[in-house]
Amino acid sequence: WAEEYDIVIIGSGFAGLSAAIEAGKVCPSVIVLEKMPVPGGNSSISGGLFAAAGSPLQARERIMDSPELMLSDMLAAGLELNNKELARIVAEKSTETLLWTIKELGVKYKPRLSHLGGHSVARTYNTANTSGSGIIKPMLAKCRDMGIPIRLRTYLSQFILTKGGEMEGVAVRENYIFPNRESGVLKRIRARRAVILATGGFSEDKEFRVIQDPKLTEDIESTNHQGATAEGLIAALKAGATPVQLSLIQLGPWASRDEEGFGVGSMFSMLAGFPYGILIDVRTGRRFINEQADRKLLVDAMLSSGRESIAIVDQKGGQHASTLDQCLKRGVVKKFESIEELAAANNVPLAPLKETIDVYNSLIEKGREDMFGKPLPMDLLPISHPPYYSIRLISKVHHCMGGVQINAEAQVVHIETHQPISRFYAAGEVTGGVHGASRLGSNAIPECITFGRIAGKNAAAQKPRT
Ligand code: ADP
Repeated sequence: WAEEYDIVIIGSGFAGLSAAIEAGKVCPSVIVLEKMPVPGGNSSISGGLFAAAGSPLQARERIMDSPELMLSDMLAAGLELNNKELARIVAEKSTETLLWTIKELGVKYKPRLSHLGGHSVARTYNTANTSGSGIIKPMLAKCRDMGIPIRLRTYLSQFILTKGGEMEGVAVRENYIFPNRESGVLKRIRARRAVILATGGFSEDKEFRVIQDPKLTEDIESTNHQGATAEGLIAALKAGATPVQLSLIQLGPWASRDEEGFGVGSMFSMLAGFPYGILIDVRTGRRFINEQADRKLLVDAMLSSGRESIAIVDQKGGQHASTLDQCLKRGVVKKFESIEELAAANNVPLAPLKETIDVYNSLIEKGREDMFGKPLPMDLLPISHPPYYSIRLISKVHHCMGGVQINAEAQVVHIETHQPISRFYAAGEVTGGVHGASRLGSNAIPECITFGRIAGKNAAAQKPRT
């Protein structure tokens, strides 16, 4: 072995860094290994949305919520394919985990909640900078203060087990140059207490994901960072981990056709376009679904029969997205003084579009139920104040619901024995089962941090081997 630590963590996103912070409180000897030249993975480019049931902002806004309700929303979106025990932990600990980010890390959130699709109530906190970096940066600062090294460009190529089947360490390539798997210098690092896998999902791994879901062909873009590939997961499978639901891969319905990746448009649609506006089929000028449905229902409807979709919102609705200015500057969102101009620029037939907006506005004015079942927010106003905004949408691969099986203690479960692999933990998107068929927006951060913390605490509680 070239080096030895109490705890070796692979991956520097929400899951890996929260594990490091918890583990570091107990053991001085923790290291985080990260293959990319920058830390943070998908976590730092995410929208920074955090769902919590029973939170202080909900109390202030008098919103009735409970972990039970959050769990039932997760199971409904997940088509009951969720691992209920794990999903329940995420829901039950969601507020505690949120408060941990505030008290222990000093994360700043906006003072208003958002109501995201598939959630029964508004329960989503937004980081002050509308980005996951609003959590990752304080996590990195905390690691620095605690003296936890994050070694970049260090690629996990293999797990190393003892003869008795315990996790003992990792083989890595140091000074690795992404994406060259042969680059860098091979080295073995031993873990005295435990190894924690936190390498995220594989939405950018076009080869691997098309094997799992043949519909997700190479030409379909993802919202993920380039390093979201499957080698960490594959290394865990070779070490005996159990794969769970690898073909359940989610597309995001809210990304812009006019920029690459997650971009700035996604947050515009999520926070303004869908809750405060309408989704239109360009060919017909009409709505076709509850804009606040969960992601899977939206994507399935948007992809059906070659639909092209745009979201439309007016001046008041547009204010709900703090990325609006950036979207306009980048041409991702377009601004119009009238519905006529908007229709012409987007090639939408004017008469049905106007009629659609009139019908929608009358629902709001008369407090009627929406025919698509959209829960209309209390502060919703008719789409009638110019300027009007539109965004052209395209579905992009976003999140892997599948991954390695863990138990409630974040231990990786062996494929043959169905018992935990000793001294081997995992957390975050690399694990599978929490969300079932479809992860609800803003449920990834509570999941990653809750299980990252559990993994870190439990890894640190292991007796060090000699
Ligand atoms: P999560 O949200 O589950 O924490 P992220 O995608 O935010 O996941 O973070 C996972 C991190 O793990 C990314 O920064 C990614 O580059 C890193 N990673 C992925 N595979 C490897 C690997 N084989 N070796 C080292 N780091 C890896």
